[in-house]
Amino acid sequence: MKIRDILAEGKPTLSFEVFPPKTEDKFDSVEAAAREIAALKPAFMSVTYGAGGGTSSYTADIASAVKAQGVTPLAHLTCVSSTREKVHGVLRELKDRGIENVLALRGDIPADGRVEKDYRYASELIGEIKAAGDFCIGAACYPEGHVESVNKTADIQHLKEKVEAGCDFVTTQMFFDNNILYNYLYRIREQGITVPVVAGIMPVTNAAQIKRICSMSGTYLPSRFKAIVDRFGDNPAAMKQAGIAYATEQIIDLIANHVNGIHVYSMNKPDVAEQIKRSLSEIVG
Ligand code: FAD
Repeated sequence: MKIRDILAEGKPTLSFEVFPPKTEDKFDSVEAAAREIAALKPAFMSVTYGAGGGTSSYTADIASAVKAQGVTPLAHLTCVSSTREKVHGVLRELKDRGIENVLALRGDIPADGRVEKDYRYASELIGEIKAAGDFCIGAACYPEGHVESVNKTADIQHLKEKVEAGCDFVTTQMFFDNNILYNYLYRIREQGITVPVVAGIMPVTNAAQIKRICSMSGTYLPSRFKAIVDRFGDNPAAMKQAGIAYATEQIIDLIANHVNGIHVYSMNKPDVAEQIKRSLSEIVG
């Protein structure tokens, strides 16, 4: 099923993200985690794409495993480190496997700055995917602005280019203060961007994750969130419980404010996905 049709129903949806293994020896455990999450029957599940594309077949394999469980898969695809030939090879593989949804991304510029020359921005990839077949296309958006963008206005203009190139919905970068998303929605709607926006929510369940988030410039951490980290950061079980509760509260507030598409960065953790799903059993069908 196409994700645009799922979102068009206008009901609250809960979806989850998994990431593929970096090496073959981890494949079975990642696949097992993906199957467990799929057993929760989310609206769809996304499978990320390894930077550089070296593990692209794992993305397609995990997405196929999700599909075999009866859950709609969304395969991510990045372009900046790939040739056009490689990208079209991946699209052919997805089509052959009946995977209809692609999240089209530029990908991060590697630290050494070495990229292929075929693509500069995600909008170019979106145009090509659109021409390549009957895919439903998603893209990334950044309520706090993308790290490289000069300002939010320019970033929103570039988001508009992605929508005009043919993307059907957008998924946000994680955020920890819902007011940031509400303000962003106002700004993008004002610019005529009307595609569904799926809110990306990260349940922060351990101290290592918090360090990574802090190192990502621009992610605002509200004082309520910082207090949780200060109090429970050294206690893994308490941090996990508090992190799941914080994410769940964020989701309830979003749905109460009619942000219906919720995507949880579940990081291959079926127990985290299960607890969130259970806490929302009467809120998301
Ligand atoms: P773009 O939309 O191309 O934007 C990149 C930058 O260029 C922005 O600053 C934008 O404002 C600017 N820009 C765009 N067009 C123009 C233009 N015409 N002129 C000048 N500037 C322009 N990474 C992975 O490696 N694998 C994944 O699976 C993955 N999944 C992700 C999922 C989500 C929901 C999100 C939010 C991010 C994900 N990422 C993933 C990270 C993503 O690849 C990086 O954030 C990357 O740096 C930007 O990708 P993009 O598709 O948003 O790029």
